[in-house]
Amino acid sequence: MAQDELRTSLAQAAEPFVENLYHCLRCNYCVEMHWEERGIQHVCPTLLHHNPAPGYSGKGYLTTARAVLEGEELPINSLIERFFNCTTCGNCEEVCPVGLRPAHLVKQIRAAMVAQGFAPAPIAAIAENVVERHNPAGASIETRNHWAAGLDGIAAGAGALYLPGCAASYEAPAEARATVSVLHQAGVPLKLLPPEQARCCGAPLEEIGFPAEADAERRELAAAIARSGCRRVVASGAECLGSLAGTQLADGVEVLHAFDLIERAVAEGRIGFEPRVNAAAGPIGLLDSCHLSKKSHGIAGAANHPLRIRALLDRLGCQTVAVADQGSYAVCCGAAGGMPRMSPQSAARMADGKLRSFAEAGAVVVLGASPLCVAHLRRSQAAGFPAVMGVFEFIDSYFRLRRVV
Ligand code: SF4
Ligand code: SF4
Repeated sequence: MAQDELRTSLAQAAEPFVENLYHCLRCNYCVEMHWEERGIQHVCPTLLHHNPAPGYSGKGYLTTARAVLEGEELPINSLIERFFNCTTCGNCEEVCPVGLRPAHLVKQIRAAMVAQGFAPAPIAAIAENVVERHNPAGASIETRNHWAAGLDGIAAGAGALYLPGCAASYEAPAEARATVSVLHQAGVPLKLLPPEQARCCGAPLEEIGFPAEADAERRELAAAIARSGCRRVVASGAECLGSLAGTQLADGVEVLHAFDLIERAVAEGRIGFEPRVNAAAGPIGLLDSCHLSKKSHGIAGAANHPLRIRALLDRLGCQTVAVADQGSYAVCCGAAGGMPRMSPQSAARMADGKLRSFAEAGAVVVLGASPLCVAHLRRSQAAGFPAVMGVFEFIDSYFRLRRVV
């Protein structure tokens, strides 16, 4: 009975995507595209590192949903396993020549599965963590701001509100500390939300099929931002940036990635960079995090921060390496969409694949502007792989900022 209800619910979730389901050209771009000039070597991390069956691809998800809509009785357990093993990276949407939205479909199907009580245990655990402790890892609320202990650059009074996000706060604290340090040197005072008021941006919940809970987190975060009185919000998290862009904040509140402030200050000639003594960063690999570089992730993706970070690195005289898949078509590192919890070994293979390609290109350090990706790659670091750093960690380690007055 429960399975019948689930089938009905899945068909209803697929219904709004009916145009997608019947307009797939079956061109296989999202399955096996290789286009060197565009930086496309592979497309789908799930197909590449989790299961090579074509059902695990953008086209595969559309085909499966179409079969569900048409009443085919596919085994429920296999459907659940398949739909919860997409990273929701959106690369299939990036390459699709007719603009189909398999990653968006996956999220809707997941939501229907969750609503009918079919969330896999690791996925349900992520949601429980966010609802109870406001972060996907389930770390304690009280320790959320521990990364900032003893830091200069945190103001009690006026300043921009800094939201490092859950990943930087708990899993990549060095990036949060370096961001405050660099912005302090650039003359930007920052405030933090008290830990009991801080919330998840909701993006991880949205990805794993808990839209109502995501919305509740986002609304509470918006209320905390309003209470702070700040008119400028500075985020480190790639997912946070996209989520905040879609959140109704008070009129006139500006949301930026921390890098935007540095880029603006450079463009306006307000800051300069001096290499620190012994500065010798070898060839650098730059990670094109999906939420910051793919158009399917909305405003944040279209802003393409990695491209702009690469321009700053060039300006600073840093040597960067090119890898076979890079830019907005780069294959996901496996950090998002619940993948590290749902299938940790597949997620680790995705990270391993990224680091290996950077190592083969000669990078000695890989930089990421998304703390979620940085933390995930660090967990997969093996001997012989490049070091992994956040972009601000790198800037703070190798350069001193000079304010131009
Ligand atoms: S969103 Fe990413 S992981 Fe999911 S099907 Fe598309 S390319 Fe594959
Ligand atoms: S790229 Fe688009 S049209 Fe081509 S197979 Fe994939 S979903 Fe279908």
